[in-house]
Amino acid sequence: MSKIDRRRGYWNREKETMSHAARERYQANWLAPLIEMAWAKAPGVRRRLERAGLGPRDLRGPDDLARLPVIKKSEMPDLQKADPPFGGFCTAPMHEVRRVFISPGPIFEPMGPEISAWHAETCLYAGGFRPGDIVLDTFLYHLVPAAHELDEALNLIGCTAVPTGVGNVDTQVTVATALRATGYVGTPSFLMTIVQRAKEMGVGRLPLEVAQVGAEPLPESLRNQLENEHGIMTRQGFGTADLGLIAYECAEKSGMHLVDDAVVQVCDPQSGEPLPHGQIGELVATVHNPTYPMIRFGTGDLTIIDDARCACGRTAARMLGWRGRADEVTKVRGMFIHPRQVDEVVARVSGVARYQVVVGRDAHQDSLTLRVELTADAQAATVTPKLEAAIRDVMKLRGTIAVVSAGAIPDGSKKIQDERKWD
Ligand SMILES: [Zn+2]
Repeated sequence: MSKIDRRRGYWNREKETMSHAARERYQANWLAPLIEMAWAKAPGVRRRLERAGLGPRDLRGPDDLARLPVIKKSEMPDLQKADPPFGGFCTAPMHEVRRVFISPGPIFEPMGPEISAWHAETCLYAGGFRPGDIVLDTFLYHLVPAAHELDEALNLIGCTAVPTGVGNVDTQVTVATALRATGYVGTPSFLMTIVQRAKEMGVGRLPLEVAQVGAEPLPESLRNQLENEHGIMTRQGFGTADLGLIAYECAEKSGMHLVDDAVVQVCDPQSGEPLPHGQIGELVATVHNPTYPMIRFGTGDLTIIDDARCACGRTAARMLGWRGRADEVTKVRGMFIHPRQVDEVVARVSGVARYQVVVGRDAHQDSLTLRVELTADAQAATVTPKLEAAIRDVMKLRGTIAVVSAGAIPDGSKKIQDERKWD
């Protein structure tokens, strides 16, 4: 298998490279009938629209969706209890449901009769999977959907799935070797466990060439090790049990392209209003899944969307990773900031020992001050302008740097200290 090119090509060139206008038309073409069908067959969706004073014809395209309030994942257990088992969000009768998955809550998710409701083929292909790959599917096969949905997507692109599930590390090594498995899907940490165990068992390098990982963060240090030391092209996707896969990395690994069968918006976590691209906000998605059409579903996850062109040729905007939970944000001059962004600012500049952001208010204006303790060898005059630039770049805000003496930022202090008084 080593001769095949895993970095080039598309699962569906026409869709993946369409223009912005064509993508809007494509999405409107599935969205309008989806809403009409949900109105007719999913009383839970109908109740949400009615409560917002909307009918199915009011939501014709992606831009109309903002009229419908966001539904929070945290509301699902109660909604499902009130109208069991799916809260009135399933459009299919139970005898057409192939599987019922169970997320903590509990939240029940139906897998309908249609194939490819998770839209994972595009993601797997962009991540380097090719027809003929033999793939260990190491996600959990009980309760949750990822293993089953990816299994189906692997078959659709012509791969052979080996449902090994999670755990049994020695068996994974033995199976990978015996079947000459070229692919892996699962968590990145478990992949590392398997390749290290292979070394301990004296098997040496496994035949694995490509991996699609998810369900936990992928640190770049771990990816580098998997790619450089073990020769495994490693890409990640983002999805949830409710929504399916909504974003995936291409060969460029510079953010995750949004799938065309989801309308993904980054929204103000408080009001639900869509925010311009480039701002941090809550990921709210509407997915083209006829059986379980989640519409304006707020995941509670924070992210940023970048619509700059990608060198791979795909035209879909990219989400720039997971940036924390929506309940940890602080709003400064109309922009949300998150503790992880503070870490990102400081990580770009060397010479900072400890740091804390203080949000204040002077003359009815929010102020943002980054307090820093410097390392012994660092010069304030060098570090300060770099930090100011990093704040502008990462947070899209202007901030002031205050260099403080060693020990001025106490242990255990909050990364973002909000000192604004609202009186
Ligand atoms: Zn790309």
